[in-house]
Amino acid sequence: MTAAPETAHETDCVALLQELIRCKSVTPEEGGALDFLEKMLTANGFVCHRLTFSDKDTPDVENLYARYGDGAPHLCFAGHTDVVPVGDENGWSFDPFGGEIINDEVCGRGAADMKGAIACFTAAALGHIKAGGVKKGSVSFLITGDEEGPGINGTKKVLQWLDGRGEKIDFCLVGEPTSRDMLGDMVKIGRRGTLTGYLTVTGTQGHVAYPHLADNPVPKLVKLLSVLDGLELDKGTTHFQPSNLEIVNIDVGNKATNVIPAQAKAAFNVRFNDSHTGKALEKRLRDALDAAKLDYKLDVTVGGECFYTAPGEFSDMVVKAIKNVTGRDAELSTSGGTSDARFIRDYCPVMEFGIVGQTMHKTDERVAVSDMHALARIYRDILAEWFA
Ligand SMILES: [Zn+2]
Repeated sequence: MTAAPETAHETDCVALLQELIRCKSVTPEEGGALDFLEKMLTANGFVCHRLTFSDKDTPDVENLYARYGDGAPHLCFAGHTDVVPVGDENGWSFDPFGGEIINDEVCGRGAADMKGAIACFTAAALGHIKAGGVKKGSVSFLITGDEEGPGINGTKKVLQWLDGRGEKIDFCLVGEPTSRDMLGDMVKIGRRGTLTGYLTVTGTQGHVAYPHLADNPVPKLVKLLSVLDGLELDKGTTHFQPSNLEIVNIDVGNKATNVIPAQAKAAFNVRFNDSHTGKALEKRLRDALDAAKLDYKLDVTVGGECFYTAPGEFSDMVVKAIKNVTGRDAELSTSGGTSDARFIRDYCPVMEFGIVGQTMHKTDERVAVSDMHALARIYRDILAEWFA
């Protein structure tokens, strides 16, 4: 494979990020972001596949899988080009899709979450390939447009498609914004799982003055919720903080004060650690509710299982590269929300490292130019070690 001649643009992570921000890829819109990456990667010897997946009740989503080389070891970089909506545009002090550089920061929606990391990894990979650094093994990009959306037609289905083709990934690095305050202060080697429960209690509507003719579901719901709220799911594990259940909604929908309502509903979410699977946790919750001997209905959705990748050769590589470039000792963390790593964990070891996440999903999302250059250098060092 011969790579196209190097242009400053392709290995300049900042210019790449500016271009990506200008693509209005608000989930689930592709917005030109995948086109842009596909064109550049194809020109540099990557074999690209555009994968559009559909499912009922959710929008069609475009994804990109691009691979350079076909041998082992295979390192995959995973990420998403879709971004969350900008909200009230008047709340922004710059054009959210302008990709301007103001005060040495690249400004716009997706700068932190996570077009910045995609730009850095692209620049690093193309630079490394052009320098002749990939003699055996392969490097790939798994880029979805469905991370900020329902997560149905994205990474999960690309992985199934890859599995069907017999493509094996040896390690996956996800570029989510894992740095907390300063670039490289934190990487993620695990995430807690997520389970959402919808609890419904049905009674009989009636007049508040004649409660014997009605059956009030509200006190029953309150009792059941207090059972859930009182549960100690675990005390935390070696690698994880304790699992936590939060009641997030109570809805009776009753505006009248003289009517006993017919139904009362609540929703809760559990972030659970590696002492549970989604299934076992659901059983635990049902057992606790059953013990209250009240009629209820519980619907449960497991949004993702907990994952943990034990520190080893690859995390050492990442930590060393971070130390070399930034001087920082990265914390190997399992905190925070979920990411597409919850799907990747079923196929290969996975860890996450990216830019500082302080402004993600906020107005005036932005990333420091110096952090961009440093992240691209770290990724390039990782590639150099991986292919050494
Ligand atoms: Zn993200």
